[in-house]
Amino acid sequence: MDQNEQPISYDEQRRRKVAIQRERREAQVRRNRRIIGGAVAATVVVIVAAGLYPVTGGFGIHKKGRASQPVHKEASAHVEEASGKKEAEAPKILEQADRLAAMYDYDGAVALLQGQKDYQGNSQMQQKVSQYQETKDSCVSWPIEEVTHVFYHTLIADPSRAFDGDSKAAGYNQVMTTIDEFNAITQSMYDKGFVMVSLKDMATVSVDGAGYHNMQRGEILLPPGKQPFVLSQDDVSYYHYMDGDGCARKLVVDQNGDIKNEYVNGDGTVEIGDYDMVPLIDRFVEQHPDFSYRGAKGIIALTGYNGVLGYYTDGVYKTREDLDENQVRYLQDNPDFDYEEQVEEAKKVAQAMREDGWEFASHTWGHINVGERSLEDLQTDTQKWLDYVKPIVEPVDTIIFAFGSDICGPEDYSGEKFDYLKSQGFDYYCNVDSSQYWVQLRDTYLRMGRRNLDGYRMYYHPELLADLFDAAAVFDKTRPVPVPPMG
Ligand SMILES: [Zn+2]
Repeated sequence: MDQNEQPISYDEQRRRKVAIQRERREAQVRRNRRIIGGAVAATVVVIVAAGLYPVTGGFGIHKKGRASQPVHKEASAHVEEASGKKEAEAPKILEQADRLAAMYDYDGAVALLQGQKDYQGNSQMQQKVSQYQETKDSCVSWPIEEVTHVFYHTLIADPSRAFDGDSKAAGYNQVMTTIDEFNAITQSMYDKGFVMVSLKDMATVSVDGAGYHNMQRGEILLPPGKQPFVLSQDDVSYYHYMDGDGCARKLVVDQNGDIKNEYVNGDGTVEIGDYDMVPLIDRFVEQHPDFSYRGAKGIIALTGYNGVLGYYTDGVYKTREDLDENQVRYLQDNPDFDYEEQVEEAKKVAQAMREDGWEFASHTWGHINVGERSLEDLQTDTQKWLDYVKPIVEPVDTIIFAFGSDICGPEDYSGEKFDYLKSQGFDYYCNVDSSQYWVQLRDTYLRMGRRNLDGYRMYYHPELLADLFDAAAVFDKTRPVPVPPMG
């Protein structure tokens, strides 16, 4: 009997239901927190900190310009004043409310101001509230079926090292995007009014009495001139084979709590900075909060066969069995390798990313083609992903298929592969499709096509990208041309 045919016990159904309800509650809390940094939490932290370190200014580290979490900024202001002066608070609250409204959370902005003790006597706050209401009333509901989805692979920080003519250069030229191209595309999309939304804004999950996940149409409300899009990035593993090719080495949390990349220069020196999509988008949203719908950012699709986010977290690094050539060499070169430490570091980064609005998806453990592989292969592969990747990045209910593959054609999902993936907690599914929109919302799933913004597409089909940016203007002049054809 196949695993997916086993009946689910009542206890198991209950357990799943409770777990899902908890996940949803926690997601809501995280979402509110990442927009305003929790005005209430911030105040408590400030008071406690000021009490503990009244003279020395105990917060040596302040966040610079991370407007999505003004906790530290507020803390620093208060500590510098050496006492929690009341007057300093009002402008901060207005700033936070403005930021919520800029991110299209008008209800949140109104609630924040109306919740202030002095709201009744504060005409400035009252004025702001009517302004937010007015903008909210101008918003229109965007059709879910007309949301576009774009994706990247790991970005190229140094084209001269990626396009150096070695055996991998052609592949990089086809499926990757340089940082200069990425920044130009992001700016163009912002100028055209694009706003990042989550798949969860398009459809939500409700759990019925039997523990089954049902999808419900979401509503995306945007002012005129704005349009939603979903962003994702595949294979954010920083695989061994990419070493020395001019891409970031890993994601880290820096001393300010910001997500950054570790990058190794050609001469072996290490730098911490914005060398890939996640920190680049974080910086962009700090400057342009209206690029993010209520704090949403992108989806990071992860395999597991090397590890995740630049950490070597697959089981083979622990058992030291079935290691491939690259893994053997890596472990030889790093005799102090500590598996548990890798897992802990990866968890820390993933959690910081989730708190900043990032979400995670399976990209299959072994980067397998789900359309060509058997149900049994899909089950074996998925189990490894659930064992070694999910515990680091959970909650996860999205699968972004590798090779742009899918478990069937454009007809509605049904059959063993879908039943199996659905039983393992996947409600959101993505493939690759060149059309502007490809969205299929059914009672049991949301499926979405994604557009690759890479060298191949820019070179051969710039017209397919015209709604997003001018490919001729964006195309990195350091790319070798012609971009090698596929196949
Ligand atoms: Zn991939």
